Amino acid sequence: MKPAAFVRHVPKTLDEAVRILAEVAPMDGRVLAGGQSLVPIMAFRLAKPAYLVDINEVAGLDRITSDGTTLNIGACVRHAAFHKPVVDGPLGALLAAVVRHIAHYPIRMRGTFCGSLAHADPASEWCLVAATLDAAMIAVSTRGERRIAAKDFFAGIMSTALAEDELLARVEIPLLPAGTKFGFNEFSRRAGDFAMSAGLVTYRLEGGKIAGARVGVGGAEPHPRRIPEAESALDGKAPADGAFRAAAEAAANAVEAMEDHQTTAEYRRDLVRAVVRRALEHASA
Ligand SMILES: Cc1cc2nc3c(=O)[nH]c(=O)nc-3n(C[C@H](O)[C@H](O)[C@H](O)COP(=O)(O)OP(=O)(O)OC[C@H]3O[C@@H](n4cnc5c(N)ncnc54)[C@H](O)[C@@H]3O)c2cc1C
Repeated sequence: MKPAAFVRHVPKTLDEAVRILAEVAPMDGRVLAGGQSLVPIMAFRLAKPAYLVDINEVAGLDRITSDGTTLNIGACVRHAAFHKPVVDGPLGALLAAVVRHIAHYPIRMRGTFCGSLAHADPASEWCLVAATLDAAMIAVSTRGERRIAAKDFFAGIMSTALAEDELLARVEIPLLPAGTKFGFNEFSRRAGDFAMSAGLVTYRLEGGKIAGARVGVGGAEPHPRRIPEAESALDGKAPADGAFRAAAEAAANAVEAMEDHQTTAEYRRDLVRAVVRRALEHASA
């Protein structure tokens, strides 16, 4: 099918983009970034936005910068930018390890990091990264700039704290200290499909014991989140099978797993147990 008729605006500056968005958002206007989620939905006429604010020609939104403490990812940075580490150290390596699980190569060439966060699919790998690493989202509108912590940003299945006239201009992720271990694992039925469950973990070693553990789970609940019960099962323990299994069990027990036509909650809970344990094994390898 073809999309319903729409008017496409192509602003050249961020100011112009948010001014147009403020005008058209109340009339079902939407931001168009990579189009890899929005365009298929429009083609199936599941969404019929009357106006699109295409941000692909807005100057400066395709930049990735780092000030030594934070990585800043602009609204038009494509998934493919992360195929190679974008910054030295564990964060660049983590992003490069995760990106290859997102969809397929052609989709990664167009889809954007920020578009994934704005779209907020429960199984999105970038949403899991943002939630686990406590990213900050910078939303811009004609009212000014607003900083939203990841824990307050994701509101539910494909639902965020962004107002209809706000553009997610960039995301800030704190750099990971040197020596941080990380591990990622996801389960999907076919390569490139959305994950049915995904786990992301990071930790440091202090005197041979785990410190500062972060355990994030995606795909199991309406949005990804850190699992404090699993993190406290790790901190102060040696990075070994016993602690990994205890943390995986704690994560499986903590999630309120979603059900759908393919899976029961119990099956998804079991997947959470598996992906968290495998992510921890990946981190310690
Ligand atoms: C076959 C297929 C498989 C896929 N598999 C995966 C997968 O495994 N994992 C995964 O994470 N994704 C997957 N995707 C989705 C893909 O990653 C998209 O690129 C991503 O979800 C949305 O990014 P986008 O830039 O394409 O956004 P768009 O499609 O342009 O927009 C998506 C939504 O976000 C809004 N939006 C976009 N950018 C902004 C912004 N800066 N500010 C405010 N609102 C904004 C739009 O208005 C729209 O509502 C898949 C897509 C396809 C077609």
